Amino acid sequence: MAEQMLRALDPHEPFRFGCSAQLACFNRCCRDLNQFLTPFDILQLKAHLGLSAAEFLAHYTTTHAGPATGLPVVTLRPAPTADRPCPFVGHEGCRVYPARPSSCRVYPVVRLLHRCRATGRRRETFALLCEPHCRGFDDGPLWTAAEWTAAQGLDRYNEYNDGLMDLVAHSRRRRIRLDAGQQGAIRLALYDAEGFRRQLAIQGIPTPLANPQGGPREIPESDGELLRLGYRWVAHILREAP
Ligand code: SF4
Ligand code: SF4
Repeated sequence: MAEQMLRALDPHEPFRFGCSAQLACFNRCCRDLNQFLTPFDILQLKAHLGLSAAEFLAHYTTTHAGPATGLPVVTLRPAPTADRPCPFVGHEGCRVYPARPSSCRVYPVVRLLHRCRATGRRRETFALLCEPHCRGFDDGPLWTAAEWTAAQGLDRYNEYNDGLMDLVAHSRRRRIRLDAGQQGAIRLALYDAEGFRRQLAIQGIPTPLANPQGGPREIPESDGELLRLGYRWVAHILREAP
């Protein structure tokens, strides 16, 4: 990412932006991307498409182990043509718009998360990604970062995605290297809701999570609650990792 494209954005600083099908750049931003998906993105997309998580992963994504931590990284697999379009872009625009991933929602804002080591408190800062091909900056309403976040329905996504960022930061800080078994368990807990639910039904809720201090006693019915349990399970795996 060229540095001059990214400029710091004060939380209260207004920026102008409007995206529409009338712009010459319409759909250009949905090509040639390295589209990273969070576990919550996958829950929304698979529900929208009426698929299981395993079906969604098999049809639309590629998974690899993150180079620094070995944590699974899931990306959207582009269509196999020269311009590498997102599998969901059509002539009319995004075909999964109500369930579009966090990275599509937040654009052109970049949200950076910082955690204070002393207090553990999270702090967010913002930047604006000003790509030359994007005509959205030429016209449109004025927004602040908070208004943009709310308008794009990002608050709920951030709530879940920040849990993932904490796990990644923890792995990096401790320089954890995961073995294949741990990687498989983490992939199941974070990215395969139905598979994780099946495993919990067979094995029960893992002992470190089934405690009387707030740990669930039953397998959560909602995918969101199941993902929260998955995050706690992964945090436990990382704590135990050498
Ligand atoms: S999910 Fe939708 S908005 Fe995001 S890149 Fe694909 S087509 Fe574009
Ligand atoms: S205005 Fe920007 S975000 Fe909208 S279609 Fe054009 S390039 Fe994409």
